[in-house]
Amino acid sequence: MAHTKESVVRESMNSPKQIDTSIIFNIPRSKQQFDVNKHRYKCSCCGKGFFTQKNNFQKSNSPLFQSNDGYLPWCKECSDKYYFLLCAAYMGNQEHAIGHFCQQADWVYEENPLIAAKEVESGHRDRTRLSHYAAKKNLNVGGRKTYIDTLKHNYEIQEKNIITSKEQVKTSELSITASAVDRWGIGFTEMDYKNLDEHYRMLKKNNPNADNNQEIFIKSLCNLNMLMIRALQSGDAKEYSNLVEQYSKTFKQAGLRTVEEKDSSNDETFCMTLGFISDYTPEEFYQNKALYEDFDHLGEYVERHITRPMINLETGSNIRDKEYFVPEVDEYEEE
Ligand SMILES: [Zn+2]
Repeated sequence: MAHTKESVVRESMNSPKQIDTSIIFNIPRSKQQFDVNKHRYKCSCCGKGFFTQKNNFQKSNSPLFQSNDGYLPWCKECSDKYYFLLCAAYMGNQEHAIGHFCQQADWVYEENPLIAAKEVESGHRDRTRLSHYAAKKNLNVGGRKTYIDTLKHNYEIQEKNIITSKEQVKTSELSITASAVDRWGIGFTEMDYKNLDEHYRMLKKNNPNADNNQEIFIKSLCNLNMLMIRALQSGDAKEYSNLVEQYSKTFKQAGLRTVEEKDSSNDETFCMTLGFISDYTPEEFYQNKALYEDFDHLGEYVERHITRPMINLETGSNIRDKEYFVPEVDEYEEE
């Protein structure tokens, strides 16, 4: 790779952070302290007094500084001093040092101004790269103004970023598993993998015993579902309705089922059935006793003819019906 300014900056931004733990963050107080008779503004760090904010303090678009006329509360000199400490702490990585400062000042942290600041820096050695960055930070950043704007922007890009290799998943901070890439192949975005996996889990949950043949259909259905979502998002109604039709054909062909549709209690164990019921009508639903009072005494019937015999069957106990039972005959009374 050619070592252009761009590639050097990008490499530095993406390199792992290394910290020199011996660096102590200490900025001495100024000899020229704030004097209420001479100054109007005071640096929150060194305590130096100023008559104007302009030229002495840097600006930020963060709401945190809005009532300070948008100025950071510490002076430019202190920004530079702090930046040098950050550079030392990040083992000389200026990009990480600026990134850290951007987060504190709520400035955008972007590649373009970083490159621009590197270019002017080579001509003006007397000023820090941070101060150049402060001047260039609004250039070619798509109108983004704060660190939060950068954060949002990067998040959106990442979601639309197409995965081109399994290694990419391992090295980046994406919420995709390597097994998802194995299952679906490469060439999808993070969002696509999420949609595919979610639908896959749903179909597999409802069809836990799908055979190999059905497995192929299940994967097709997941792909169709992803295309349906894309068609919906792009507002392509015709494409969407075609896909829905295709989906329902494939679904029928595969012989798959949805749990809600069919009572399968005959094929399942009793506990599985109870589990399925509570999936769709949670027990809490019946907690309002006044509303769901047992008007036709079904509960009584169940208690008497189902629960009681079930307890006897499961535990080997011998609980009898309260009303109808053959009384135990006392042995001693037997003739
Ligand atoms: Zn200061």
